[in-house]
Amino acid sequence: MEIVGEEVGEWNRRFVLRLADGALIESVLYRGDTLCVSSQVGCAVRCPFCASGANGLGRSLRLEEMIAQVEAVDAVRGVTLSGIGEPLHNAEVCAQFFDWARARGLRVTLTTSGGPLPRLREWMARPHHGLTISIHAGTEDTRARAVPHGPDLGSLFAVLAEELPRLTRTRRKRTALAYLLVAGLNDSDHELDAFVARALPLGLFVHLYGYNEVETNALRAVPRARYEAIYARMAAAGLTVRMSARARLEANGGCGTLVALRTPARAR
Ligand code: SF4
Repeated sequence: MEIVGEEVGEWNRRFVLRLADGALIESVLYRGDTLCVSSQVGCAVRCPFCASGANGLGRSLRLEEMIAQVEAVDAVRGVTLSGIGEPLHNAEVCAQFFDWARARGLRVTLTTSGGPLPRLREWMARPHHGLTISIHAGTEDTRARAVPHGPDLGSLFAVLAEELPRLTRTRRKRTALAYLLVAGLNDSDHELDAFVARALPLGLFVHLYGYNEVETNALRAVPRARYEAIYARMAAAGLTVRMSARARLEANGGCGTLVALRTPARAR
């Protein structure tokens, strides 16, 4: 694997890496110490807002390809499986990667769209420093559009309600939900209230993310004033909510901004 491109922002550094078969993936060093690692070339979940899944799945990465992303960058203190790919679709290798990282004293976190649900159950109980489940909807119709090949909300929240009481208090505090706001997709009051109704009983922390627009689709972020109003609405309803940090709002920092390019032979 070799670094073939690098982009330095105010907060983050994005790397473009070429794999031995020619496929390109990306990783991002957040705030100088946490590396957002890719677990697949492309992604089968195909969220419409996401550049990473725009061409579907190329293949899953091997353990050495995930480790090489970390070894290519200096001064990493933590890794997060929040880059290209759905980690639970490559769960065995990602588990080995977490073990490798933890053995080196690195903090390990991941973001998942939630499926396959049996893997989610396993990962909720595994050692980690943070597990964020991407929800992005309050109703089933919107969930099916926002996370097309992820589990439906009814099944997903049923698993969460079952598994959370089995976790230690610390582990529950490290488990969070994510809601990425996209204009016209999931930002109506009706949608948000439906999400709040599902999320409140779980007592989990919620990351309310602003959207970083990408060239692979025409979707747009909600205006800042609306973003802040939605934050206030969720907080007033009783959720513990956090808005995107500045590093995440940088153009290379948000959910779904990383692009995976297959080799020409694997192209669509
Ligand atoms: S947001 Fe995550 S799960 Fe959805 S397509 Fe992109 S990489 Fe896959």
